[in-house]
Amino acid sequence: MNDCIFCKIANKEIPSEIVYEDDLVIAFKDLSPTAPHHILVIPKQHISSANDLTEDNAEVVSHIFLTVAKLAKKFGFAQNGYRVVNNCGKDGGQTVQHLHFHLLGGREFGWPAG
Ligand code: AMP
Ligand code: ZN
Repeated sequence: MNDCIFCKIANKEIPSEIVYEDDLVIAFKDLSPTAPHHILVIPKQHISSANDLTEDNAEVVSHIFLTVAKLAKKFGFAQNGYRVVNNCGKDGGQTVQHLHFHLLGGREFGWPAG
């Protein structure tokens, strides 16, 4: 998907503040943070949303959660806790059509979601 902004970030075609990268995933700071720590973790492969996960491509999601746990430790908020959010589709508030997980830490979060 060559017009996908997160594919462009994964391919280093546009700059981002990358905090972790391996063969499968890349993690970078959200441009408009809503918490002291706001990191986006995405598969390098283009998957449009959670609706597009299949038996063949879903393994990356467990890798993303392992990455989340590593990053929470690295940035020092694992012990206090954190929130992981995936917005899917219009009602979910998804604005970028490339599967991504928000890792939010450094403050307390309310529930239920707004
Ligand atoms: P969502 O609303 O769940 O689709 O989240 C998309 C997120 O991507 C928002 O929190 C945006 O602030 C963030 N975002 C959009 N463009 C960029 C970018 N170029 N670099 C970093 N974060 C971005
Ligand atoms: Zn993409």
